[in-house]
Amino acid sequence: MARAKEPTFRESVDIMFARAVALMDLPPGLEEKIRVCNATYTVRFGVRMRGEIKTFTGYRAVHSEHMEPVKGGIRFALGVNQDEVEALAALMTYKCALVEAPYGGSKGGLCIDPRAYDDEEMERITRRFAYELIKRDLINPSQNVPAPDMGTGEREMAWIADQYQRMNTTDINGNACVTGKPVNAGGIQGRTEATGRGVQYALQEFFRHPQDIKAAGLSGTLDGKRVIVQGLGNVGYHAAHFLSTEDGAKVTAVIERDGAVSNDAGLDIDALRGWIIENGGVKGFPDATYEADGSKLLEAECDILIPAALEGVIHMDNAAKVSAPLIIEAANGPITAGADEILRAKGCVIIPDMYANAGGVTVSYFEWVKNLSHIRFGRMQRRQEENRHQLIVDELERISTDSSINWTLSPDFKTKYLRGAGELELVRSGLDDTMRAAYNDMANVWRNRDDVPDLRTAAYLVAIDKVANSYRAKGL
Ligand code: NAD
Repeated sequence: MARAKEPTFRESVDIMFARAVALMDLPPGLEEKIRVCNATYTVRFGVRMRGEIKTFTGYRAVHSEHMEPVKGGIRFALGVNQDEVEALAALMTYKCALVEAPYGGSKGGLCIDPRAYDDEEMERITRRFAYELIKRDLINPSQNVPAPDMGTGEREMAWIADQYQRMNTTDINGNACVTGKPVNAGGIQGRTEATGRGVQYALQEFFRHPQDIKAAGLSGTLDGKRVIVQGLGNVGYHAAHFLSTEDGAKVTAVIERDGAVSNDAGLDIDALRGWIIENGGVKGFPDATYEADGSKLLEAECDILIPAALEGVIHMDNAAKVSAPLIIEAANGPITAGADEILRAKGCVIIPDMYANAGGVTVSYFEWVKNLSHIRFGRMQRRQEENRHQLIVDELERISTDSSINWTLSPDFKTKYLRGAGELELVRSGLDDTMRAAYNDMANVWRNRDDVPDLRTAAYLVAIDKVANSYRAKGL
């Protein structure tokens, strides 16, 4: 059966943008200035390998430079195209504004199937692509700072940082040219888990607000909630792992490239992740039911659906069949504009991508600050904090021995209280704070304005208002 006519990813972002600006009072022309993508650079470059020259096509789109540097991931996937990177760059502008990361929006991509090349080939391709972008300042600590996205991770970021430093040997801030690097190459603790961790913090915050829980037709807490995850990559795995091991949620199904596995009693996420790494897919995972047509599981009964793979997976043809009352968009653009309307009409609450997956850019911001300040977070104050806590504990223990009342501190309290915050604790604390604050900025608009029908429109309103203020301050 032919699929219903859907807007493209970029058209979807534009439709959602238009829906929000219709509720705002922006000066003529400013709306257009904010919406358009400032520039997109396309590069075609050759790499000699396997006895021939292979030509690759890559992009770097800069959506808005109201703040610099601009920021956004680099994606390695066969489906990468200009429309997609521009849509993703626009989302980055709004996402950074919403979580108050001081950046404009950008995004990059390379049309490649990374699984078709070995490590040494991938390094040569990545370095060559990085070279093309660096020489045009499209990778630069003060102008344009990439990060990982689909198909890229710490390894690629380390190659990019090294390539920049080879080409800019006297730039003392060279490490800040890219984020998401390994900790031993200038990265920050907690970056790899950050986006999935942010999804967890977003859900925790949602479940602190009874009226929002009720709006989704749910009740109670995250404990015992049935969760379906699509894509057990970086974002999906960390979200599923933390929700199931720390919040008592049950991941009842995981959808991957080669199909889906489900178990109503809950899947062991770490065992499943290990299985995928070893076997290349979910098929054959023990203690679970396998379904070759994985996308069917997007429609299965659950409390929370987490699409964490790619865009456009919930579209006009399957939206009506999706039964989840709450969807959190861990991936960028997993719900098309058409599907969004169908789901909202059914009463489904959608926690939008712009907010839901902002954990990655938030911790990237911390990494960039760490690189510019050349010191690890917590290094100066950790022991001093521990010493002050020790003073209080010693004093409490002295009082307890001197007084007639016989009481002691529980050992658990002592170990927890005496431990000063290291980099990971500080990163998690900063991320949690950011996700809570941004949720409330967005949700307050949703709850308090009758003309704002959903969290996505509310998120756009908050973000566009911040970008507009920043343009106004520049005199535009
Ligand atoms: P990833 O490459 O680590 O993981 C993607 C996963 O999806 C893989 O396990 C892959 O096998 C699976 N997948 C691919 N096609 C699929 C399909 N058709 N059906 C089911 N599963 C499929 O990528 P990631 O970094 O986890 O990114 C996932 C999404 O999150 C993307 O939309 C990305 O833009 C977004 N995102 C990522 C970050 C980050 O920090 N990595 C930050 C913000 C947003």
